[in-house]
Amino acid sequence: PSGEPPEPLRRVEGDNYEPNNPNSARINATILSLVRNEELDDLLQSMNDLERTWNHKFNYPWTFFNDVPFTEEFKKRTRAATKAAVHYEIVPKEHWDVPSWINMDLFGESVSVLTEQKVQYMPKLSYHQMCRWNSGLFVKHPALAHTQYYWRVEPKVHFFCDVDYDVFRWMQDHNKTYGFNINIYDSPESVTTLWPETRKFMADHPEYLKENNAIEWLQDKERRPGHNKLAHGYSTCHFWSNFEIGDMAFWRSQAYQDYFDHLDRAGGFFYERWGDAPVHSIALGLFEDKSKIHWFRDIGYQHIPFFNCPNSPKCKGCVTGRFTDGEAWLNQEDCRPLWFKYAGMD
Ligand code: GDP
Ligand code: MN
Repeated sequence: PSGEPPEPLRRVEGDNYEPNNPNSARINATILSLVRNEELDDLLQSMNDLERTWNHKFNYPWTFFNDVPFTEEFKKRTRAATKAAVHYEIVPKEHWDVPSWINMDLFGESVSVLTEQKVQYMPKLSYHQMCRWNSGLFVKHPALAHTQYYWRVEPKVHFFCDVDYDVFRWMQDHNKTYGFNINIYDSPESVTTLWPETRKFMADHPEYLKENNAIEWLQDKERRPGHNKLAHGYSTCHFWSNFEIGDMAFWRSQAYQDYFDHLDRAGGFFYERWGDAPVHSIALGLFEDKSKIHWFRDIGYQHIPFFNCPNSPKCKGCVTGRFTDGEAWLNQEDCRPLWFKYAGMD
């Protein structure tokens, strides 16, 4: 029944991944998606791809989140798309509502200013709420209380390659905190005070800076100097968070929760359009050892307008090496080379 946190799954030896086996080889993990009822068809597209290429072998549960109740149709059709367990959860009102300290008049003014500067989604209040929830609140959902790893999936994405190993178990066995797939530059106008606020936080909490961090990656100003300037010292390079495979312990840590609270109080989820992608990326770059961040190059993936297309016979429907099928200028948005330069390949 929803509301009850799932029992932690026990890790055992072997390769029994039967969907309802409480002693399966699965570890404590879920595929998760925040999604709207209206996105059902697009979500099924993503779900079918991930089931076909990976999850039908491992049967990790799916957990769907929504700010309003899921429809019966949504539940029926998503249940039919997998053998695995499926959970439907509502985001608590106190995690979704605009926080009391946000001034809606000031929000309105910011919308006018930043819309003029072409910041996408600026007028859409729910987009700001979504970014805030994905940044710091999803891990506090009671339904995830006993879950450690997650794979975030969005509607309308594609998975192209057969993946034959238990990705969650791989994360655990290799002591990884975070796995990404695509790395791009952000619109600097959407995050103009994010780096200054981060610096304030770090001045108060120097103890949170991890050894072997990726701060140089965050501060690069060679490749896109204009971005760095507008974002006041942040390169804007970030892990594209519509794909994330992560260990929630990191987001639940004191360092991250203090950082998130600082940002939340500063108001930039509303007065600017701080995305969960730059917020997560900055936190990972400062509070985590960069060797614990992994590029899943083998997971062929597309979220419009970008791809990750490995060269492998396991991949179908993805042109090797392609980054975008949109306009040519989009190629310059790829900032993976920056990550490799500063963090190396693990
Ligand atoms: P984009 O990828 O930045 O264009 O943003 P999306 O529209 O894909 O939103 C990101 C994720 O949040 C997707 O999984 C959406 O389904 C989800 N999402 C965005 N806004 C809402 C909302 O208001 N309610 C719910 N339930 N999900 C949302
Ligand atoms: Mn999306």
